[in-house]
Amino acid sequence: MTGDADPASAAHAPLHTVLPGIAVRHPHWPSLDTNSRPHWVSSVVLWQGHQAVVLDPGATHCSGLELQRAMLRLAGQPLQVSLLINSHAHAEQVLANHAWQAPVAALAGTQMAMQQRCADCLAALTQDLGEPALRGTRIKLPEQVLEHGQLVQAGGRHWQVLEMPMAHTQSDLLLWSADDAVLLAGGLIDGHRLVLAQGRVAGWLQALAHMEALQPRWLIGQHLVAGPGQVQAAIGQQREALCDLVRRSWQGLESWQTESEVLAQAPMQGSAADRLLARFNLGRAWREMEALWLGQEAMPQACAGSGAR
Ligand SMILES: [Zn+2]
Repeated sequence: MTGDADPASAAHAPLHTVLPGIAVRHPHWPSLDTNSRPHWVSSVVLWQGHQAVVLDPGATHCSGLELQRAMLRLAGQPLQVSLLINSHAHAEQVLANHAWQAPVAALAGTQMAMQQRCADCLAALTQDLGEPALRGTRIKLPEQVLEHGQLVQAGGRHWQVLEMPMAHTQSDLLLWSADDAVLLAGGLIDGHRLVLAQGRVAGWLQALAHMEALQPRWLIGQHLVAGPGQVQAAIGQQREALCDLVRRSWQGLESWQTESEVLAQAPMQGSAADRLLARFNLGRAWREMEALWLGQEAMPQACAGSGAR
């Protein structure tokens, strides 16, 4: 399992072949602000012959061009990209769409979220990475809507589109190849860090349960490729990261602590940016758990253990 960053910069990050017809690239871009986190993405290229489909092409026009060069090195010939798929509406996954002529497809919820948020995301990313890094980057929204259950042909496999609502974001897409049990998890599995920005803990935990029930042999998420024998642990780690937030919130509620008292106990490891993210995630989880707790509902079952009532 590769659970952390490729040390290569965005420009030189290679495409790794995971299985025939499936290659993954994990670039990252450092923020100009030392108090901000770097931006990370995993792009997946599904290819056969000279045809390819790209899941999550990257964060900027320039990074799209870098991926195209990496694809040329991978295949030894230019690959004709017939379709781009955006797994969810986060800037790092979608703002490179414009580097390709190919149509873009996404779930309706992702399409809607991109319509609402991409302009702000582009502005924020430009401020964070600097004008030169964003040169040539234009918003290109998905024009094709993918439906839950629909089949997509790519890289010599049939992929079933699965929608996981209100999880990492409002709408997250999984691609599932039943033939060789490969699951492309988009933002729902992140080997690098947890970001709860537009998502909800309960929906994310449910999505992980759905993913586990599929019994994948291979799992590809953000900065994570898990092979046979590693998948359950990878899903378990993601669940544990969420449950840690749930338990901290729930224990605080049970002890009549305020939100700020709970946030003051957030993990303090890592950089200033890591600590800020830890507080942000805990704040999101707190508000969600507070609503459950006030409604006399139970703590999410997946996290039952210490702190459950
Ligand atoms: Zn994301």
